[in-house]
Amino acid sequence: MMQNVTLVSMKNITPVILICLLCSLAPVISAAELINTKTPKLVIVTIDGLRWQEAFGGADEKLLNNKDFVSNIDNLTARFWNTDKQERKNRLMPFLNNVIGKNGVIIGDRNNDSEMSLTNKQHFSFPGYNEIFTGKVDDNLTSNAKILNPNITFLEWLNKQVGFENEIAIFSGWDVFPFIFNRERSGLFINAGFENMPLLETHSQNPKAQDAAAQIKLMNQLQAEIPSPWETVRHDALTYGFAKLYLQVKQPKVLVINLGETDDFAHDGKYDAYLDSAKQTDDYLRDLWTTLQNMPAYKNNTNMIIITDHGRGNDAIDWRHHASKQAVQNYMTALSDFEGGIVGSEHIWFAAMGPNIKSQGLLKTTTELSQTQFAATALALLGIEVSLYDVAAASALKGVISE
Ligand SMILES: [Zn+2]
Repeated sequence: MMQNVTLVSMKNITPVILICLLCSLAPVISAAELINTKTPKLVIVTIDGLRWQEAFGGADEKLLNNKDFVSNIDNLTARFWNTDKQERKNRLMPFLNNVIGKNGVIIGDRNNDSEMSLTNKQHFSFPGYNEIFTGKVDDNLTSNAKILNPNITFLEWLNKQVGFENEIAIFSGWDVFPFIFNRERSGLFINAGFENMPLLETHSQNPKAQDAAAQIKLMNQLQAEIPSPWETVRHDALTYGFAKLYLQVKQPKVLVINLGETDDFAHDGKYDAYLDSAKQTDDYLRDLWTTLQNMPAYKNNTNMIIITDHGRGNDAIDWRHHASKQAVQNYMTALSDFEGGIVGSEHIWFAAMGPNIKSQGLLKTTTELSQTQFAATALALLGIEVSLYDVAAASALKGVISE
């Protein structure tokens, strides 16, 4: 599973198939050059614990009006509530619903026959990100502890393939990400938790580089000065800001951004801050997409895919939490009153947009789609058959990639 491979094309990237065939006959074009010029770029955004209920339905009336979770109900209502469901969606995540939801694919709106779940038996983050980035479930992962992941993610594998070395960058607000991607072994570029962002060296005449150095210094300083509400997670503004600067200066082929505020504000029982973060996350998606379309290296050549690591409970008693029946008996004993686990925390959502993504809108499903299918979908968008990475990984999502 670890041998170097050249690209294997998918059906819909005809020029890549053609050039692959040509280079196998007459290897004048190196694999690296082929990937540089033809392979679409990929941007992955993972959002921690943002429920499908808000993503596709806007503010939840029963939580919005609960003074246990909202400090100023009038203020929050004025900003996020409307009796019309479409208007509610517009107020919270307009880019997701109106732009991706029309020009791309969205999955997971369980009120409209679209269903997707995680498959791991824990329903919390480390096993979830492992599932997303390996396409498989590892039953031995039963905590969020900082343990070097024994599993090889598809990004670690990709980082060793011709043309992708050092072309992948991962940004996360959570300080466990270097362990999920086993940075020691994988050699992946990861900036996570409260790590300073290194000043970026570039050999090109990129005018962004000079500006970026000053901005990185300032953001590193602010990161040190602004207290985070959490011990292990920084504010998304820092994660997104660092990722955007990296994108503009280094122009990687694969960029991963993990946003985490939604999960932590939910755990804190702050529904107001959770909604503000969801709205800001939507603004980041819009800004990211606009930024990509204003860069020649990415314009019309970049697919963006989005997924959540887990869902949460549905009601006032349990929306803050997420855990499986197995997890509440072991790792999450603080939730042991919920004997069956947190019902609904297995429900996740997915969205995608780009030149190789169908203009489908909501994808209705007949069977539950799985978080394990993300890895193969991501690789397919890079023109790579998932079996080259791992024959045990689940197949790509059907109905997402254009034929
Ligand atoms: Zn959580």
